[in-house]
Amino acid sequence: MANFRALLATKSDAGTSLAWRNLGLDDLMDGNVSVAVSHTTINYKDGLALTGKAPVIRRWPMIPGIDFTGSVTHSDHADVQAGDQVVLTGWGVGETHYGGYAGMARLNGDWLVKRPPQLSAAESMAIGTAGLTAMLAVLALERNGLTPDRGPVIVTGAAGGVGSVAIILLAGLGYAVTASTGRSSEAPYLKALGATEVIDRAQLAGPARPLGKERWAGGIDAVGSHTLANLLSMTQYGGTIAACGLAQGMDLAGSVAPFILRGITLAGIDSVMAPAALRREAWQRLARDLDRDKLRTITTTRPLSEVEGLAPEILAGRIRGRVVLEVS
Ligand code: NDP
Repeated sequence: MANFRALLATKSDAGTSLAWRNLGLDDLMDGNVSVAVSHTTINYKDGLALTGKAPVIRRWPMIPGIDFTGSVTHSDHADVQAGDQVVLTGWGVGETHYGGYAGMARLNGDWLVKRPPQLSAAESMAIGTAGLTAMLAVLALERNGLTPDRGPVIVTGAAGGVGSVAIILLAGLGYAVTASTGRSSEAPYLKALGATEVIDRAQLAGPARPLGKERWAGGIDAVGSHTLANLLSMTQYGGTIAACGLAQGMDLAGSVAPFILRGITLAGIDSVMAPAALRREAWQRLARDLDRDKLRTITTTRPLSEVEGLAPEILAGRIRGRVVLEVS
């Protein structure tokens, strides 16, 4: 591909701006693998980058887009061959290295994961960073001894990307899932994904007591702040909460009571710098465990050209599930 379209974020004295440009391979940053991008997606973090609401972009100019999938066109990396179908999530792509909102990408082959053959290109982006994060959270819960017989689990930010995939995964593994959402109109959607109970997120949004009634054996929190503190204070003895998000806030005002009186574990989840072996494990588990029919029901497909308009929507919590963006 001689030339391709790319969304370029630039910064000047007048502020930041986005513009579509025709670029060539020589305009891309250094890397030992080139990929023809077929699909990308929009995550909450992409929304922050595109709107400038948080300093996600740390090198200017930048092609945003923290995820993409596509076909390798050239490789000087020993483990990557031309023609390989690959997935990229994280590693600072779309933040400090040119990202997925472009027809081509060039980057370090160490960052790529081979797309499991069970997953189509579109499905891999329906999963994206959000779905990978949900799977990393499930793995963390399992490593801390959580099993379905221990009791119900809670998922916050339920109708968002991480939340929707987390519900599908946990329900598929046999857990009774409580979904916490601010959108009561999405209760039928959440139940169709496998939630057994839907609660109003307002119940968890205020300051937490040191210890509350023990309501769940574990959970996945995409929200942070008071919500995470409440989750910890309401987790059963010996349970684990996996924390991966900050949709309510970055603060965490709680007490140590859940840790020292109930032996609760707070497991931190980071998808950006997650080691390659853990990513491969998570993608294999996604290929094996994620119900593909349910994945389809949470997915909307749009052309990449519409990404700018989607950014304020995802930050406002108005996007349900996941959005796949078609590049070519
Ligand atoms: P989405 O925007 O798709 O989902 C976020 C959901 O959070 C919303 O849909 C909404 O769910 C809920 N929410 C929004 N605002 C608030 C609020 N003020 N109080 C409580 N709940 C709120 O984003 P993603 O699923 O892509 O990401 C979710 C979070 O996880 C983000 O904070 C993101 O930065 C983080 N993240 C972290 C990763 C990591 O590596 N640790 C990787 C990926 C994401 P509802 O309407 O159901 O209430």
